[in-house]
Amino acid sequence: MANQGFFHRMMTLAALPLTWGALVSGCAVPPPDDIQTEDEESVVDSESEVGSGTVEQATNSSCSTASIKPLSQQIIDEMRCMKPDMVVELPSRPNLVLTDAVFPYVVKPARDAMVGALDAKPNTKMTVNSMLRTVTQQYMVRRWYEQGRCGIAAAAIPGNSNHETGLAIDISENSTWRSALETRGFKWFGNGDKPHFDYKGSGAQSQKGLDVEAFQRLWNRNNPNDKISEDGTWGPQTRQRVQKAPAKGFALGASCNEAVDPQDPQDPQDPAAECSDFSNSEFSCSPDGNSRGLCDAGQVDLQACSNGCLIQSGNDVCMGTTSSWSCNGSVGTTKMENGNYVGTSFGCSIAEDGSEFSDPGDNCIPACLSTLKAQGICSSSMTGKACEKSITWFSADKNRFGCASKIRVTNPDNGRAAVLMVIDAGPACWVEDEAGTGVLDMSYRATEYLFGESLGVVDNEKVHVVEVSADTPLGPVQ
Ligand SMILES: [Zn+2]
Repeated sequence: MANQGFFHRMMTLAALPLTWGALVSGCAVPPPDDIQTEDEESVVDSESEVGSGTVEQATNSSCSTASIKPLSQQIIDEMRCMKPDMVVELPSRPNLVLTDAVFPYVVKPARDAMVGALDAKPNTKMTVNSMLRTVTQQYMVRRWYEQGRCGIAAAAIPGNSNHETGLAIDISENSTWRSALETRGFKWFGNGDKPHFDYKGSGAQSQKGLDVEAFQRLWNRNNPNDKISEDGTWGPQTRQRVQKAPAKGFALGASCNEAVDPQDPQDPQDPAAECSDFSNSEFSCSPDGNSRGLCDAGQVDLQACSNGCLIQSGNDVCMGTTSSWSCNGSVGTTKMENGNYVGTSFGCSIAEDGSEFSDPGDNCIPACLSTLKAQGICSSSMTGKACEKSITWFSADKNRFGCASKIRVTNPDNGRAAVLMVIDAGPACWVEDEAGTGVLDMSYRATEYLFGESLGVVDNEKVHVVEVSADTPLGPVQ
């Protein structure tokens, strides 16, 4: 629970530097969200025999993603059919060594940056342990992490690793190559995951969800009587099919003749409104929360909301500039009509450098734990604390927004914004009484990103909150 309140928060602030100091030398766990994760790439992507059964059987009987290599290759081929420019192959170089079972694909500008670095230091060896990873491989790594197997310290939820989007590489000689890569747009992850670099240079557009959608298309092509939605979103339906998929690959492989849905809401080039996003009887908020729409005879009547859209029990409205506030009972249940709250920090999350934020005043067990497990956001075997840390970009206020919903939180002073998942209850009404307005309790990771520090209610820092659709990626909004 997150609703310890005002006094707890002041104590937390006082205790924080000590907590951090203690953690610096501790076992660093890299963040399991937008960036990637495990230290044991060489174990993970090393060569081993291909399984004859399902992905689930391969997961339980090996510690190598190579055991499902033919299936992964089909997914990559399908991704390249869907977006031919998205994943390009890294050409061979005399000083480049790819370990077995690496899929040598990255986005085009990252490929150019790597080639530039390799050619700038032709006498220095670069050993690449991991590049592109498919959703099925990420599923395996995540399961090993959840099971405490195969030496995986942390792993992103499938669909959420930068290795799945062609933006991440892992290099053995990371310190040797750091400056050559960083001057070309790569960012070293840090001590929490030393081999890992993320491409953040120009053209670093994430193709998040593309591997998930490629798998969904392959599944549907081979299972016409058990079709699932091709939405690029990882959820219980897709997870179930990934578990059942054949390690040796489907009978029908990739096809470049099937059209990619031009209205795909996952496609960043096409944010156009779709009628299926809206009701045809009353206005509802758009998936990004920036407008409201009504589906009228197959056409969307879309109205921009300059201050964000407010989801109500019916007929959603654009947020205004004023708000009444009341908190009766134990916790606030009414949304602020202007979307403005006072921000506070709580809970257990992973810092950017891979260390952990702890919270002596909180048990770090999400009040939404059963919902998170039912939706496959956390596995059924995870402890509450492990679940909370694996999400890291989270907030409380479930009684306003609902468990597992997502909100985009903006610091209006610097424009920084992050998408958080609502996982906990609170804050208590008496905390909001202190603030005299609604309070949004957020993970330390979130307030660090938004404000550069942790927040108590006494800091009186304002945040603006807009609800967004469940398939919005967590973490910083670029
Ligand atoms: Zn990595």
